[in-house]
Amino acid sequence: MRPTKIAAIVLASLVALPAFAQEKVVNLYSARHYQTDEALYSDFTKQTGIKINRIEAGENELLERLRNEGAYSPADVFLTVDAARLGRAQALGLFAPVTSKILNERIPAHLRTDQWFSFSQRARIIVVNKASVNPADVQNYEDLANPKLKGKVCVRSGAHPYNLSLGAAMLSHHGEQKMQAWAKGLVANFARAPKGGDTDQIKAVAAGECGVALANSYYVARMLRSTKPEDKQVMDNVTVIWPNQKTTGAHMNISGGGMLKTSPNKESAVKFLEYLASNQAQIYFADGNNEWPVVASVKTSNPGLGALGNFKADTINVGALAAKQAEVQKIYDRAGWR
Ligand code: FE
Repeated sequence: MRPTKIAAIVLASLVALPAFAQEKVVNLYSARHYQTDEALYSDFTKQTGIKINRIEAGENELLERLRNEGAYSPADVFLTVDAARLGRAQALGLFAPVTSKILNERIPAHLRTDQWFSFSQRARIIVVNKASVNPADVQNYEDLANPKLKGKVCVRSGAHPYNLSLGAAMLSHHGEQKMQAWAKGLVANFARAPKGGDTDQIKAVAAGECGVALANSYYVARMLRSTKPEDKQVMDNVTVIWPNQKTTGAHMNISGGGMLKTSPNKESAVKFLEYLASNQAQIYFADGNNEWPVVASVKTSNPGLGALGNFKADTINVGALAAKQAEVQKIYDRAGWR
């Protein structure tokens, strides 16, 4: 072969290389799905050229899938809601540690661990029926166990992550003995056996079936934004209380995610996580479910959140919340909070 011909072949193969090079992708397993997510993902692709393949399913289904796929999983990033659930994924050894200057700078230290990051926040708040309970009597989570509220308290199952995470915060602040007494007092105050989701509790408070209930802030914000007459009626009948404003602050939970240990596209995965902490992505991510951004400088103009006003938040570390789930479950079991 003449040298020029060899050079031509080499050149041809170099030119042809990009066609064989793998297209950059992030394979996302997500347990969250909101309308604003479309813009969230397409903006990332526009900015970086990295395509996102999404698999959206229920939390348990995705965890099962990740476990079955094992080392061969195509998943790069796992997104879900609640520190309890992220903690469960971490306990299964699914995440890889991520060190990112961007994530460390933008996300407050209490809203991240070395393996997963919060991208939006929600609060667990108290709703009261003014006609049956004096709002002054339920200014704190602790008050829900006060015998004054006997037969008035409605709340969903104690096994639900939202209540386990709240319990983890209570346990951290009070220690086991006080926490156990609180759970017992709370159960003694139940208006009915736990059933339904947070919205059901809000409706039951409005209807007078319960005097007071716990609900995540986005359910309240959603009702406050609703144009349906029946929702307006519900919100006219309830008062929303920001708990523990003179003490620890309102219990906050999060939506978040991390990079999987088996991720085949680690560089793109980290880029995606960093993108989620960017100004525009923070707004999409938070607005998708009427939540607050985690990046302090990012402000949203969500009217539902505006109606809820300003508040003091508990700044306990999300990793610490996640780590106490099993202990809290035992305390709730002993108290009879099914
Ligand atoms: Fe929810």
